[in-house]
Amino acid sequence: MDALYLVKIGEILLKLGNRKEFEERLRGQLNKKLAGIPHSVNIMPGRYYVCVPEDRAEDAEFILSRTPGVNGYIRARKTEKTLEAVFEAAVQVAKERVASGLTRFKAESRRSDKSFPLGSFELSAELGARVLEACPGTRVDLHKPEFTINAEIRERAYVFPDPKPGLRGLPVGSGGKGLLLLSGGIDSPVAGYQMARRGLALDAVYFHAYPYTSKEAHEKVMALARILGSYTGGITLWTVPFTDAQLRIKKEAREDLTTVFMRTAMMRVAHLLAQKIGANCLITGESLGQVASQTAENMRLTESTTDLPVLRPLVGIDKEDTILLAKEIGSYETSILPYEDCCVLFSPKHPMLRADHEREGASYRALDLEGLLAEALSKTERLDIPFAISRP
Ligand code: ATP
Ligand code: MG
Repeated sequence: MDALYLVKIGEILLKLGNRKEFEERLRGQLNKKLAGIPHSVNIMPGRYYVCVPEDRAEDAEFILSRTPGVNGYIRARKTEKTLEAVFEAAVQVAKERVASGLTRFKAESRRSDKSFPLGSFELSAELGARVLEACPGTRVDLHKPEFTINAEIRERAYVFPDPKPGLRGLPVGSGGKGLLLLSGGIDSPVAGYQMARRGLALDAVYFHAYPYTSKEAHEKVMALARILGSYTGGITLWTVPFTDAQLRIKKEAREDLTTVFMRTAMMRVAHLLAQKIGANCLITGESLGQVASQTAENMRLTESTTDLPVLRPLVGIDKEDTILLAKEIGSYETSILPYEDCCVLFSPKHPMLRADHEREGASYRALDLEGLLAEALSKTERLDIPFAISRP
């Protein structure tokens, strides 16, 4: 038997009138992620149906649980449009719930096929009666049910329990592509996830200061990119050799300014790369006040080398909340591996907290890094990481 999933999609956007684009994007994402599995994705009004072989049901659930634009999903039983078939399926669904200790339920039905012998109200009542009869100990509770039995009469009949929550949000790609500055830390993967959920496709860029930052640090970033790719349907990671730029800044800039200047230089290379790959914005994991480089003044300086919007979805998020999210999305365990992304060698003891836009901006420009940064960009390595099912 095949496993059939009923997928609820972002109804708010459908109401806005971008329905076609939304549907095509989401279907494209699902097809891309399901590519290694024999499958079908069918769009019906307000619903998707995803069908996979029984032995790939878990993989399908992994995919549905990680695809922005999916509001909810649930395995459904598809039956003939006869009362007996629908009742039998409903009792099966109820028995599974009862086996997991639940008793209070309600039945809900929808009928788009008006030729079906019962109206939705009568059908719900009859479903409830059949379940009560077949599952002793259950009772109907319309206000606080522990589970719901749903029946939908469409081109076929579908019977299913409560949908599992999806990520909601918008299908990846519906907002264009963003370039994520991905370090090995906790914050930037979460920032990327947040923006993917708002419909951005992602490329990631990592600034690597080999040998000051290790090969393991680079591998850690690749692992984080792979995790993000399980949400976005694969990802391209760009690795910029940044050692020369960092050494130059360390040698020539005032010590307290090195951190903020390195960030400014990174933003510049990210800007150039974004133009090359057609990204419409930059994304960082910065959060206001978290470290010295993350004050409003310093952000003003670091973003002065790009005119793209710099999206910082964590700017007002408390670190503890970011950590919770990192755990939820499965990046935390990788992020806390010990390989540092920024060598202590490059961190000043007393970094500048509030860079003056005019004065410090002028001394940044006096470093005249453009040639060096263009060279770093030209030596940037590209790694295409395909989507993979990777359960934690
Ligand atoms: P994270 O946990 O994301 O590393 P953080 O709290 O350690 O963030 P910083 O190290 O100041 O903060 O970095 C701020 C942001 O700058 C990061 O979230 C990331 O977007 C970007 N960034 C920092 N270092 C790098 C790097 N080596 N490569 C790419 N992006 C970087
Ligand atoms: Mg960091």
